Order: sequence, then structure tokens, then C-alpha cells
Amino acid sequence: MLNIGGLTPFTTIDYPGKLAAVIFCQGCSWRCSYCHNQHLLTTGQRGEIAWEEVLVLLEQRQGLLDAVVFSGGEPTLQPSLPDALVAVRQLGFLTGLHTGGSFPDRLAACLPHLDWVGMDLKAPFDCYDKITGLTGSGTAAEQSAMLLLESAVVHQFRTTVDPFLLQEGRIEKLKQMVAGWGEQLVLQECRPD
Ligand code: SF4
Repeated sequence: MLNIGGLTPFTTIDYPGKLAAVIFCQGCSWRCSYCHNQHLLTTGQRGEIAWEEVLVLLEQRQGLLDAVVFSGGEPTLQPSLPDALVAVRQLGFLTGLHTGGSFPDRLAACLPHLDWVGMDLKAPFDCYDKITGLTGSGTAAEQSAMLLLESAVVHQFRTTVDPFLLQEGRIEKLKQMVAGWGEQLVLQECRPD
């Protein structure tokens, strides 16, 4: 089942307006310089917490929490994510996802099982490779953003303001791009430490 690198049992800030638990999925194919979760990036590494343990904890939280958010790492890296979302909904929780959009096909498979998505936009799509270290990452992110826009799932586009983004008007370009979709970009502070 899902490879899990960590868990926050209670948070008020990871799903807008809801009390939630956050499951940190192990593994990411990108290497952003400002990544806070370096320990979650290795894909081959076995997770810290068994999925069965998470389900037991969630059963104990029924009626106390509104939602469960899958974060990472990059949750859509793992093909078992749709099944995990179904299991969480069956327990009566809303489902949330934090994603960079690196796997559009897998995001598409998850969307029917999601109530909210927070998608991180790293930069204008033609600048992605410089941040993620992976060629073609901007194309994948753009496809994921389009899928999200076309879906009925409530969502938010947000970006971490790192020094690269501050150059050459990139934040303004990003804001204008998102405004062109009829959406508002949420800015998050970069904390390199
Ligand atoms: S996409 Fe997210 S988890 Fe992956 S390296 Fe970038 S900031 Fe870290």
C-alpha cells in the first residue's frame, strides 16, 4: 500500500477551513533547492509508518477531524494513492492533496476521489527545469494545472517565493498566468533554513 514517511495527526492550516491530519508520502522525482522535506525525497526508501497504522489512527479520529490531506514528497508518485483516497473517504473524511503536478496521469486518476487540491506552482512553466532539476517538469505541471482547472474539485494554486522567482518579474508573470485562468495565486514565504 502507500509508502508513508511521516504523519501530522492534527493541523488547522493544511486544508482550508478544516481540521485535518496530514499524511506525508515518501518519494519525489523533483529536487527543488528550497525543499523542506529532503528526508521524504528518496523513492526507494521504505516509509516510517505502515498504512494499516494510519488507518487505525484515523478510525480513532472519526468525528474529531474533518479531513485527511496527502502531502509529501509527491503523493501522486505512488500508484496506490487512489485506493488510499477511497479508503479515507470510506472512513467519512474529506480528502485533500498537496501536489506539484509531476504526474498528470496519476493526478487524473485521483481527482474523482478528491475534495480539495493545493497545487504548488514553482515558476512560469518554461522556468521549471531550473527549480526542479528535471527536464520536462514544466510540461507535466502545466498538464496537471489544466486537469485541475477542468475538474470540479475545489482547489488552490500557490507558490513558494524563492530568490529565483524574484528575478526578472517571474512572480508577476506567474500571477498574471493564474489570473488569466480566473484564479488567484496564493504566495508562501520561502524559508531556506
Ligand atoms: S516537488 Fe515538493 S517535495 Fe519534491 S523536491 Fe520540490 S518541494 Fe520537495
